[in-house]
Amino acid sequence: MKFEAIAVEKIPLIRKGDDLPYIICERIELQDRDIIVIASTIVAKAEGETFRLEDITPGEEALAIASRTGKDARFIQAVLSRSREVFVEAPFMLVTTLAGHTCVNAGVDESNIEHGFLLYPPKNPDSSASKLGERLESISGKKLSVIITDTNGRAFKIGQTGVAIGIYKIKPIKRWIGEKDLFDKVLEITEEAVADELAGAANLLMGEGAGGIPVAVIRGLDYYCEEEISMSENYRPEDMDVIKKGLRCLQK
Ligand code: GDP
Ligand code: MN
Ligand code: MN
Repeated sequence: MKFEAIAVEKIPLIRKGDDLPYIICERIELQDRDIIVIASTIVAKAEGETFRLEDITPGEEALAIASRTGKDARFIQAVLSRSREVFVEAPFMLVTTLAGHTCVNAGVDESNIEHGFLLYPPKNPDSSASKLGERLESISGKKLSVIITDTNGRAFKIGQTGVAIGIYKIKPIKRWIGEKDLFDKVLEITEEAVADELAGAANLLMGEGAGGIPVAVIRGLDYYCEEEISMSENYRPEDMDVIKKGLRCLQK
């Protein structure tokens, strides 16, 4: 058993309006059931989610958080403009984004973008993944899956990892419930976070710095699925999320 993870080399610096699927297909011959893993950074660049820090005017809430935390109110405003709920203000902002993903700074990033600029995350990563996937399929003529990734920290552990924030034609979760273990016991709980695991594998090729590898292709695993499934369906329902409940209690 084995699978491959292939870096797509020589992708240029991405600018607003760039045709990412065309750029990818020029550089790698895709095969049926390939999983195209794309860093959110270049999706955001192509979608024009680039802002000058000096052009951002902080609102009342951003100014209040800035005065409590000593952080740049313009950066806080950027984070708030992509957040639906704030759980932690300092030492980092932990928020749920408009798309429902809970992460630090809403994915607003200063790295891998020119000085003085901020990159906001793609507004709707699932719909970005669908658009990219449909165009990749139409250019290549192959059946493909897409995962848009970001780098996120984890609770409880030091270190960040690639995670999936938007998907196309791939099931994010493999349900093991009902399957048997080595000793014939029926598994009752386990659901494997396949999309995140694949994002982590692709991120090994991407890295976080000047590597210039924002796309990797995973080949040899079959998680292709015809139905439309979105990452947003994968976020734990509010009433079942004990961590969020705990964080809300701490804020009171
Ligand atoms: P994120 O995890 O989605 O926030 O993306 P990162 O900023 O960590 O970048 C992931 C990879 O993509 C790194 O290898 C970067 O050097 C690379 N990268 C970021 N932007 C570009 C770009 O515009 N062109 C190319 N070729 N690589 C980029
Ligand atoms: Mn990022
Ligand atoms: Mn990254």
